[in-house]
Amino acid sequence: VSGPFDAIVVGARCGGAPTAMLLARKGYRVLVLDRAGFPSDTLSTHLVHPTGVAALRRWGVLDEVVARGAPPIERYSVDFGPFHLAGPLRPTDDGVDTAYAPSRVVLDDILVRAAAGAGAEIREHADVESLVVEDGTVVGVRGTGARGKAFTERAGVVIGADGRHSHVARWVGAESYADRPTLTATYYSYWSGVPVEGFEAYVRDRRSFAAFPTNDDRTVVVMGWPRSEFADNRHDVESTFMRALDQAPELAERVRAGRREERFLGTGDAPGFYRTPYGPGWALVGDAAHHKDPCTAKGISDAFRDAASLADALDDVWAGRAPFEDRMAAHQRERDAATMPMYEFTCQLASLEPPPPELAEFLFAASRSPEASADFVGLLAGTVAVTDFLAPENVARVLESANV
Ligand SMILES: Cc1cc2nc3c(=O)[nH]c(=O)nc-3n(C[C@H](O)[C@H](O)[C@H](O)COP(=O)(O)OP(=O)(O)OC[C@H]3O[C@@H](n4cnc5c(N)ncnc54)[C@H](O)[C@@H]3O)c2cc1C
Repeated sequence: VSGPFDAIVVGARCGGAPTAMLLARKGYRVLVLDRAGFPSDTLSTHLVHPTGVAALRRWGVLDEVVARGAPPIERYSVDFGPFHLAGPLRPTDDGVDTAYAPSRVVLDDILVRAAAGAGAEIREHADVESLVVEDGTVVGVRGTGARGKAFTERAGVVIGADGRHSHVARWVGAESYADRPTLTATYYSYWSGVPVEGFEAYVRDRRSFAAFPTNDDRTVVVMGWPRSEFADNRHDVESTFMRALDQAPELAERVRAGRREERFLGTGDAPGFYRTPYGPGWALVGDAAHHKDPCTAKGISDAFRDAASLADALDDVWAGRAPFEDRMAAHQRERDAATMPMYEFTCQLASLEPPPPELAEFLFAASRSPEASADFVGLLAGTVAVTDFLAPENVARVLESANV
């Protein structure tokens, strides 16, 4: 492939690589630039809900992800202390009822290679430093590549898939909305010898944590505590982490019997926002376009949804089926409608405040019904709509059946 390109994608992970792959498969000339090299890790745990797994399957890369060894996750449970909700996962429309938590070293590399296999040109160690703008329209990028070589590349659209601190978003002045401050600090590490039953989550006093299996017979244990405690706890993560785990003694026992294989990784920087994802000559995808607290593990699955939606929108524009402004506005509306209820739910959970009394009463009632429990974990899995689960009729039905 040589320029000029139809699209330049800045960032080659869960947002950028699938966008590039899907555009290249539609026959467009795509250049992907990432300052990182692959395979490589990034600061993130990596539960991929059935909705995200379904995307991997549609794209033809699921078999490779599975072959790399992350075990299937067929059950979620959420333990609130006095009661817990657990169940198998309601399937997606196309019948996927399994989650996986492949390490990002594995997952991102598979996605980058799938983009290359589709014909996109991938340039690693390429740091994008500015945009080329003509008459108010973005027409390309400038940066420094491997061995310090400066480059300028031009394209019909520049797509910022460069994560929550997106430079592309900053350079174009993308507006944000539905902003929330960082609510939690999140830390995680990897243990061997810690058996888990699918995805296990625990909600406790100003703490929430989860454990789930990944590659190499390891278990991820991830924990959030209030952002306000970040400064106090950051120099003593291990004891803060282990003390909080003791609020779920049975899990704590399993973790203590295992062996921690990595250092603790974490961040106190996870604001919530939506950004307008397009403008003249540019678009945003993945975390660059919409970010939220990691407590509901939606980032990767949302990035996959967003990538497919953006690739379809650009294809419609370039094939002459719709004007850019109209089609991208529709893409934005679809994104917001698909993600906003879960975003609100995520922000509520990330506050680490006890649920409002009516919600607590409803969840308690739901915990007494296997069907309602499976609906709740389906909500987390992305296969039951938040709006359906919290619909007044459903709430009334669950409360009523719990009382008999
Ligand atoms: C602690 C934590 C735990 C999480 N756990 C989960 C989870 O369990 N499940 C889940 O679904 N999500 C989780 N997330 C969220 C998930 O990590 C993100 O939603 C996801 O990585 C978004 O992918 P992305 O491609 O949009 O951005 P990123 O993964 O941030 O990738 C951006 C890429 O852009 C590149 N880049 C940036 N700037 C430039 C530049 N100027 N030039 C060239 N390249 C550039 C970077 O090198 C990077 O490779 C978690 C996040 C955190 C912080």
